[in-house]
Amino acid sequence: MNAHFKLRPYQQEAVDATLDHFRKSDEAAVIVLPTGAGKSLVIAELARLAKRKILVLTHVKELVEQNHAKYESYGLTGGIFSAGLKRKESHHQVTFASVQSVSANLDQFRDEYSLVIIDECHRVSGDDTSQYQRIIELLRQQNDALKVLGLTATPYRLAMGWIYRYHYRGFVRGEDGKPFQHCIYELPLSYMINRGYLTRPELVNAAVAQYDFSALPRDRFGEYAEQDVNQLLSKHKRVTRSIIEQVVELAAERHGVMIFAATVDHAREVTDYLPERETALITGATDQKDRDLLIQRFKQRQLKYLVNVSVLTTGFDAPHVDFIAILRPTQSVSLYQQIVGRGLRLDEGKQECLVIDYAGNHVNLHHPEVGEPKPNPDSEPVQVFCPGCGFANIFWGKTDSDGRVIEHFGRRCQGLLEPSEGGESAEPKGRPQQCDYRFRFKECPHCGAENDIAARNCHECQKAIIDPDDQLRDALKLKDAMVIRCAGISLTVDGSKLRITYHGEDGEELNELFDLGKAGQRAVFNRIFGRRFANGQAPKAFSSADEVFELQALLPAPDFVIARKQKHYWQVQERVFDYRGRHRKAY
Ligand SMILES: [Zn+2]
Ligand SMILES: [Zn+2]
Repeated sequence: MNAHFKLRPYQQEAVDATLDHFRKSDEAAVIVLPTGAGKSLVIAELARLAKRKILVLTHVKELVEQNHAKYESYGLTGGIFSAGLKRKESHHQVTFASVQSVSANLDQFRDEYSLVIIDECHRVSGDDTSQYQRIIELLRQQNDALKVLGLTATPYRLAMGWIYRYHYRGFVRGEDGKPFQHCIYELPLSYMINRGYLTRPELVNAAVAQYDFSALPRDRFGEYAEQDVNQLLSKHKRVTRSIIEQVVELAAERHGVMIFAATVDHAREVTDYLPERETALITGATDQKDRDLLIQRFKQRQLKYLVNVSVLTTGFDAPHVDFIAILRPTQSVSLYQQIVGRGLRLDEGKQECLVIDYAGNHVNLHHPEVGEPKPNPDSEPVQVFCPGCGFANIFWGKTDSDGRVIEHFGRRCQGLLEPSEGGESAEPKGRPQQCDYRFRFKECPHCGAENDIAARNCHECQKAIIDPDDQLRDALKLKDAMVIRCAGISLTVDGSKLRITYHGEDGEELNELFDLGKAGQRAVFNRIFGRRFANGQAPKAFSSADEVFELQALLPAPDFVIARKQKHYWQVQERVFDYRGRHRKAY
């Protein structure tokens, strides 16, 4: 082996983790390494160590080429199977292939393979009919102990969430039905930057002008519709022009500038404001040949500006890029990291990479991916300890000036519990189970079990749980019922008695009395309010009304309260917490 290709310590760790995992398990695994970490070297080393046939799949020919070249740099020979590269070799021990070409020629993959490696594996969907899954299925027919390893910088997709289920550091992400079972190794971007493996980004606030997309409606993933974005941008041509003027000014001392536009129309407009001879525009519609030529000229520094609409986020590698201008909105930390990652490759004489966000994304590059769409622009990742198992969860939320979590959007603890000795685990093979502590929950009216706030059937007794929307609709139909959108609660104490006043948004009031001196009422109060104390971060069993009064700031308030008319008063019947339905949420 050539000494030049000695693995970096973390690359060796990733290789070791893979060997370790597949020695004990056939379940699909993922390695997460940031862009620029040298995934192709990890792939090359695994391919070198493999004794039997292996297949390295990816979705773009550039990556097929890169991975193959890295492998051959070991002095080994591997095959390429890619229509785009005009080579269809499948007889080597190691084949580097594009997923489309393999899919179209499945009959040429009838041999027994021991390992499939998927680069950029966040593109694999859980859907059985996808190209990747069909290939894996076919290869499993030849070898039911086939191993599947994915590599990616971004193990999260807006549409699917996390691509794996279990993390080796002892937590769980999401439910069953993920394309990969285990994440077996992961390094954060900041590690790579701090160790000098990547260029330091110089994050600068846009000084002149920036877009404000915040008024546009978002889809369920927190992203905007192209049409809306175009409409907004067409009204702000002056903003675009002054942004580009600043980009050109700052680019005087830069070598390669990448500009990420919001839409194709926007990219064209941006291109118009740039010096024509030094600028290339690449969109999804750019012909492959033109695209290759433009990228080549950019890499040779004949062109200085490369404008694109998120088509150059993976498989594109121009180490000299030292200025990234972001003119597109996104809520995705992963996508943001991919974009910035284009400028972080090491290059001779490169000190840092200038990164300017003109779209007001306020994404912190070093924040972890939370795994849920950002609920509102002010949210930030917060650490929430589980009162059940102590696991440090990362959820969207808010902190006060002392760093205390005052609000969070977490639902269920993500910690993994080791299987108890001889316990009756529902999971196969004594697999660790997800901690069942819930920060937010709906109580099953039949058996009292705590369920996710979106659950339709109880996970314990399987019976239907009433949908809060139905509950509200039914109540609104009744003449003797009152429904208020609760804006807040206030308390009054009279000896052992605690009176809760629910304040409606329109000034209505409902009252409810709990005598905490009586064991039965105390239990009901604690089940409803004590259990949800401090966003479920510190459930409490109160013993007196005074104690509740003292800590009232952290008492939860419901979003809706439903009451029924009795002879002389309104009796509270339901308190709807954590409402996520179509009726507007109370403020
Ligand atoms: Zn827990
Ligand atoms: Zn139940």
